[in-house]
Amino acid sequence: MRLKSLTISGFKSFADKTTIKFKPGMTGVVGPNGSGKSNITEAIRWVLGEQSAKSLRGSRMPDIIFAGSEDRAPLNRAAVEMTFDNADHYLKTDYAEVTIKRVLFRNGKSQYELNGQDCRLRDITNLFLDTGLGQDSFSVLSQGQVESVFNSKPEDRRTIIEQVAGVSKFKKQKQQAETQLTETVDYLDRVNDIISELS
Ligand code: ATP
Repeated sequence: MRLKSLTISGFKSFADKTTIKFKPGMTGVVGPNGSGKSNITEAIRWVLGEQSAKSLRGSRMPDIIFAGSEDRAPLNRAAVEMTFDNADHYLKTDYAEVTIKRVLFRNGKSQYELNGQDCRLRDITNLFLDTGLGQDSFSVLSQGQVESVFNSKPEDRRTIIEQVAGVSKFKKQKQQAETQLTETVDYLDRVNDIISELS
C-alpha cells in the first residue's frame, strides 16, 4: 500500500482545490510559517475519520471549512480525498486502488465515500483497522504530539510504543479472552451444581 495523492478543497487555508502527488520515496513539504503545512497533515487525519475538532485546532468541526480571507468569501464546504495504491492488497479489499473521501457542509451535513460510493465512517475505520494508518495510529504525528512523547511518563511512553508495535490489540484480545474464560468457568460451576443436584 502506498499513498498516491491527496486532494484538498475548502479545508482550512486550502480554499482552492489542491492536489499533492506523492511519488515513491520520501516527500517533504516546505513553506513559511503559517503557509498551511500542518493543515496538510490535519487533512490526512480528518479524511481518515478524526472526530475531535479540538485536535484539529478548532472548537467545532465546521471550523475546518475555509473561513474566508481579505480577498475571499468563506466557503460552505470542505472536502478531502486520499488515494492509495493497493496493488499488494494490504488493505483488505479487491480494489487495486482505493480512494477515500470526506465532505463537510457548514450546516453540519457530512458525507464519506469509498471509491466513489457513499459509505459510513465505520466502513473507512474498518478498512484501516490494524494497518497502522487508522485515526488513532501514530503514523501522523502533530508537532504537539512529538513533544508529548518526549515529555510523557515512562509508563505512558510504554503505552504509545505498545500501540505502535501492535501489542495493544493483543492485550485487548487477551483481556476479552480472560473475561470469556471467567464466564465459562462460572457456567461450568452452575452445570456441575445441577449435575450433583440431579444425581
Ligand atoms: P508553522 O510552520 O508555523 O507550523 P504551518 O505551515 O504548519 O505553520 P498551518 O498551521 O498549517 O501552517 O496553517 C495555519 C494557517 O491556516 C493560518 O494562516 C490560518 O489562518 C489558516 N487557517 C486555519 N484554519 C483556517 C480556516 N478555517 N480558514 C482559512 N484559513 C485557515
